[in-house]
Amino acid sequence: RRKWKKMVKVLEELEESCGTPVGRLKQVVDAMAVEMHAGLASEGGSKLKMLLTYVDKLPNGREKGTYYALHLGGTNFRVLRVHLGGQRSAILGQDIERQPIPQHLMTSTSEDLLDFVASSLKDFIEKEGNGLEQPSPRRRELGFTFSFPVKQTSASSGILIKWTKGFSIEDMIGRDVSECLQQAIARKGQDVRVAALINDTVGTLALGHYNDEDTVAAVVIGTGTNACYLERADAIIKCQGLLTTSGGMVVNMEWGNFWSSHLPRTSYDIDLDVASPNPNDQGFEKMISGLYLGDIVRRVLLRMSQESDDFGPASSKLAVPFALRTPLMAAMHEDDSPDLSEVARILGEVLELPDVPVKVRKLVVKVCDVITRRAARLAAAGIVGILKKIGRDGSGGIAGGKFRSDRPSRMRRTVVAIEGGLYTSYTLFREYLNEAMKEILGEEISSNVILRVMEDGSGIGAALLAAANSASE
Ligand code: ADP
Repeated sequence: RRKWKKMVKVLEELEESCGTPVGRLKQVVDAMAVEMHAGLASEGGSKLKMLLTYVDKLPNGREKGTYYALHLGGTNFRVLRVHLGGQRSAILGQDIERQPIPQHLMTSTSEDLLDFVASSLKDFIEKEGNGLEQPSPRRRELGFTFSFPVKQTSASSGILIKWTKGFSIEDMIGRDVSECLQQAIARKGQDVRVAALINDTVGTLALGHYNDEDTVAAVVIGTGTNACYLERADAIIKCQGLLTTSGGMVVNMEWGNFWSSHLPRTSYDIDLDVASPNPNDQGFEKMISGLYLGDIVRRVLLRMSQESDDFGPASSKLAVPFALRTPLMAAMHEDDSPDLSEVARILGEVLELPDVPVKVRKLVVKVCDVITRRAARLAAAGIVGILKKIGRDGSGGIAGGKFRSDRPSRMRRTVVAIEGGLYTSYTLFREYLNEAMKEILGEEISSNVILRVMEDGSGIGAALLAAANSASE
């Protein structure tokens, strides 16, 4: 009995320290908007890098031709071919091939990783059409979606700043990512030009804008998390005199590294961070994204099992980092069988904890709920932070100013493109995120804010941006 109580106490303390009442979320919103300002004001002015992308106009639907894209980001690698017909929303066709990135390549050399990428591209091109299609009359062009922090030097080149999401390939840091890929493509004897180098969020925004011109920002919540949005060029103070044809530029926030004292951090988060390959880095990402949520839950369960033998005999599996992957955690969370048989199965098969009693399984579900709810609500606060920065949160903009009318102005329709497995495949996460958006913004304003899923946006968007930068344009 005493031990049961101790276990319940672990849960209660967790709930307490993960609390995200709307007041706290609004503090996170404000902190996000303030950090965005700071990151735009000066290089290194904030943990938010607020990177320039050199994307100053977004696709408008008139793009034409066949373009390729490669997407290297987190768990899966994708090769795409996109046929553009020149009419809005008429992407004539697309072919996508996905495959998991072999684990050993994530920590090998840039040559090994990019040879794998280039050889997948080669295979993909060689399978092309099976005689149905005419050989391409001109050099193929591709957009490269590379979802790591890159300091862009143009719309088609940029230097890798650091790795995230478990990747670690020293020799590539500081090098031009496009050039590395272009060389690998040449090693495979292919004639393909890297016409765009983009972050995945920028691809999502590009497809979002292609489909709907009210799209102003994009968020990815998958293995990792990040966001970008369309900023006024004159608001990018750290880049004085930045001239763009549109007067705007897409800014890659790298929001995974956001930090604020208002974030509800627990001892489990601290332990996870210390054990990670990038301690003190990507703090927001480590509380929100798919690579980490399962492991936070595992750490809580480990603690519970140390407090009580209700879990049965000690399992060494529970002590193994990342033994519980987020999709399995989600499956436990969403188990609606009366005796939580799916929870029992996963605890047994994955964590080697057979015969966990039903009352303990209920606690396990609750732990999943607390961690996922916190993640989803913090992501919502981040999104509202962006809206606040660009004056789309109904408050009249962060600067306010003398032109602000007393009458609340009519809120414009605002679309945020969203992508990533955590949001698209994890129903409860998505529901918590949408619910928190409503809580923070209020019913009326949130009815003008639309989160729109862009399936494969990061890849298709890269093809769209390659079209925009095409040599034949
Ligand atoms: P990536 O971010 O790796 O490019 P995705 O956007 O497809 O690719 O996201 C994959 C991540 O989403 C996985 O690492 C996993 O954490 C999470 N995920 C995928 N499916 C689910 C699911 N059913 N429930 C919870 N999380 C999921």
